[in-house]
Amino acid sequence: MPVVNTVRGPVDVADLGQTLMHEHVFVLSPEHVGNYGTGAWWDEEYRVADAVAKLKAVAAKGVRTVVDPTVWGLGRYIPRVRRVADQVPELNIVVASGIYTFDEVPHQYEYRGPGLMMDVPEPMVEDFSRDIVEGIADTGVKAAFLKCAIERKGLTPGVERICRAVARTHLRTGVPITVHTNPSTGSGLLVLDLFLKEGVDPAKVVLGHSGDSNDLDHLMRLADTGATLGMDRFGLDAYNTTASRVATVAALCERGYADRMVLSHDSACFMDYFGDAWDEGIPLVAPNWRFDHIHDDVLPALREAGVSDAQVDQMLIDNPRRYFS
Ligand SMILES: [Zn+2]
Repeated sequence: MPVVNTVRGPVDVADLGQTLMHEHVFVLSPEHVGNYGTGAWWDEEYRVADAVAKLKAVAAKGVRTVVDPTVWGLGRYIPRVRRVADQVPELNIVVASGIYTFDEVPHQYEYRGPGLMMDVPEPMVEDFSRDIVEGIADTGVKAAFLKCAIERKGLTPGVERICRAVARTHLRTGVPITVHTNPSTGSGLLVLDLFLKEGVDPAKVVLGHSGDSNDLDHLMRLADTGATLGMDRFGLDAYNTTASRVATVAALCERGYADRMVLSHDSACFMDYFGDAWDEGIPLVAPNWRFDHIHDDVLPALREAGVSDAQVDQMLIDNPRRYFS
């Protein structure tokens, strides 16, 4: 039986259960919080306790696993996630390696690499592989998937280098890939084309944020490659309303694509993009953007729209298990 590494250690893929495939525990830049958060809007103990409470509430809905694609560029800091995971033993948290940028590589990789000032083998592949094989920094926690991003700027030289490093690390280690895409610009097709040229099996790829689109032809074209569509921003009505997201998922289920979709919110216990407006502001501007929206509102709406319990289980249980197998 294949196992997947979680924050607390390896778990049988058969035991992943209902899985939210794209949620963040913390989006919190260590550089930002260290300079502007501490002593101002950041309270470490309060936020850890708050995250524990929010994730316990998720588990109480029946979710057994949360997949957290917070990587370099989004403020990955595993010791804090570990503190939270240790206090929510009923929930698995799976963490990622990779880099999140829409344009250039971080300066820490700018001068090091094949053909660069420091002419060495691709250091991103070395760093990502270490996260997966040995563990992240000195935490002993192993990353179980890879994350990169391609936004409306498309395949910039920096994004291309990162996506290739992710593809090569995938081939070396076998762990699957999640890509942040922008479906309105068709960026998923660009990154899939690159992955295919690198020898990646699309079945090991989730095209994140595909659910921001209701263009069935585009979504079917992506899914027909074998890739999985991330219908993973339920509650972010500014990008696409719940009613439209539900109608699109139901239409794709009717066309036989329930085996190529996963569900999530892309929410977080805390996100520093909103600073101290997080607690009071988000419920006002994005009231559905919370970890229980899928179970409370989306699943009943999907059933109403003709999606069967078996298809819901495919999207919440079977597809995540296959992805990590
Ligand atoms: Zn995200």
